[in-house]
Amino acid sequence: MPVPGPGELLLRVGAATTCGTDLKVFQRGGHPRMLKAPTPFGHEMAGTVAAVGEGVERWRPGDRVVVANSAPCGVCEWCARGRENLCSDLHYLNGAFSEYLLVPRRFAERSTYPLPADIPFEIAALAEPLACVLHGLEISSLERASGVVVYGGGPIGLLFVDVLANSPADFPADFPPGNEHHIVLADPNPARLEAGKALGADVVVQVDRDGGEASRLCKTSRTGDGFDVAIEATGSPAAWQDALASVRPGGLVQLFGGCPPGTTVPLDTHRLHYSEITVKSAYHHRPATFQRALDLLASGLLHPRVLLSAERPLAELEAALRSMRRREALKVVIRP
Ligand SMILES: [Zn+2]
Ligand SMILES: [Zn+2]
Repeated sequence: MPVPGPGELLLRVGAATTCGTDLKVFQRGGHPRMLKAPTPFGHEMAGTVAAVGEGVERWRPGDRVVVANSAPCGVCEWCARGRENLCSDLHYLNGAFSEYLLVPRRFAERSTYPLPADIPFEIAALAEPLACVLHGLEISSLERASGVVVYGGGPIGLLFVDVLANSPADFPADFPPGNEHHIVLADPNPARLEAGKALGADVVVQVDRDGGEASRLCKTSRTGDGFDVAIEATGSPAAWQDALASVRPGGLVQLFGGCPPGTTVPLDTHRLHYSEITVKSAYHHRPATFQRALDLLASGLLHPRVLLSAERPLAELEAALRSMRRREALKVVIRP
């Protein structure tokens, strides 16, 4: 049982949720940014403050909180520009798959959020992936009633669909999505397409895992000539290429899924230049999007339970990850 030092918290984990990133760590043996194995892992969690270290005034035992999995330094050039996800000294917190987690001072001060009253732990834990999705949308220059294709119906792709279809244009005030978008979801798995349809995708298309599907998908767009925004949420170079080939003139490609290290994709220079295509990539989340994610979860406008396929005790973590690998589970709630 860790004992919190000055400024630290001890979190009793109420629920942790598994994530595609955890599966990557499990399969690839590490992560380029977040951790170095061997280490405890798991990074989507909510729970109760069990003890506080000396000098902690903001929190007391019994407080229900969610702790974000990163904490920016607050003083570097990137932090000063509000781009904390690129902080030159971003600290990560892993170890959600445990009964208790020691929350370092920087996280206790900057990355711990009080839970809205009745939001359950397993829903609050989803603030992390949702914050990443909100960050991705914020920098994707969406206008009202855009044509959007989402490649990948995993938890991230489905969160994109849920937000695009169900968060009204005025939530939050400066956040552009409105529910007049035309949304196409592409995935090889029929159950995931079904889930996307239920969330509000206008068209769902079963695609080949090896890609080469862009021209077929463009025909399903509202205008028939491609999309205003193409979002890639699979982390595979084949889907990156399809996303790049799916936008109309003036369109934006959001390459959201992190591919394995060392992979590359070719670019059609002619299309990119003469059709003025914007290519973007989003990484991680920022404190502002984390807070918005919590607010949005508390609003009840989204359908986060769709993502929670099963619930298992800590001892069955490996089985939970294997069920994700077989694509039987989207996310599993781990209840220590
Ligand atoms: Zn995650
Ligand atoms: Zn910084």
